[in-house]
Amino acid sequence: MTVYLHEGDLPADVLGPGPVAVDSETMGLNPHRDRLCLLQISDGRGDEHLVRFAAGHYDAPNLKAVLADPARLKLMHFARFDVAVIHRFLGVWATPVFCTKIASKLVRTYTDRHGLKDLLRETLGVEISKQQQSSDWGAATLSDAQKEYAASDVRHLHRAHEVLAERLAREGRRHIAQACFDFLPTRAELDLAGWPETDIFAHM
Ligand code: MN
Repeated sequence: MTVYLHEGDLPADVLGPGPVAVDSETMGLNPHRDRLCLLQISDGRGDEHLVRFAAGHYDAPNLKAVLADPARLKLMHFARFDVAVIHRFLGVWATPVFCTKIASKLVRTYTDRHGLKDLLRETLGVEISKQQQSSDWGAATLSDAQKEYAASDVRHLHRAHEVLAERLAREGRRHIAQACFDFLPTRAELDLAGWPETDIFAHM
C-alpha cells in the first residue's frame, strides 16, 4: 500500500481496470472562487495516487481520460461537489458515478450521520481522521499528514460501495439511487450556473 504524489497529471497506465475511487481537495467550498488543488484516485487495489495542480495548470490528459471514461464507474462521497469541481477545472464530466453519500441517505435511514467518517465506521469498522480537511491544499509542500488524509478519503470507497450496493438492492432502492446518480451532472451544472441553493423541484 503506497501513496504516490504526482505533479500535474497521472502517469499513464498506473491504474488497473474497473471502478475508481475519486476525491478532490480545493481551496474552499465555492467552485467559482476556490481552485482545485489535488485530485485523489485509486483503483481499489491498495495504492492511492494524488495528482497535484499548480494554479491555472489543469492540462492533465491521462487523468481526464480516466475520469471521462464511460466504461469506468467513479466512486465518490458527495459527488455533487467533486463532479462540479472536476468539470469546472478539468472540463470533463466524471461519469458514470456512484455517490456513497446519496446511497447512504437512501439506506441508512436510521441515522442522519452521512459523513464519510461515520459511514466508514459503521459499514466497515474503519476509523479515518478528518483533522486535515480544512488545511492549505495550495501549499508548495504538502505535509505527510495531508497526504495521508487525502489518500484515506479514497482508500475505502470500493468496499463502502460494495456494502451500499448490497443494501440498496436489499431495500429495493437501486433504481432510485441510479436515477439520482444519473442526475448528478445536471445538479452540478445547476450549482455552477447559479442555482446552488435552489431545489429545482420545489413548489416555492
Ligand atoms: Mn477529501
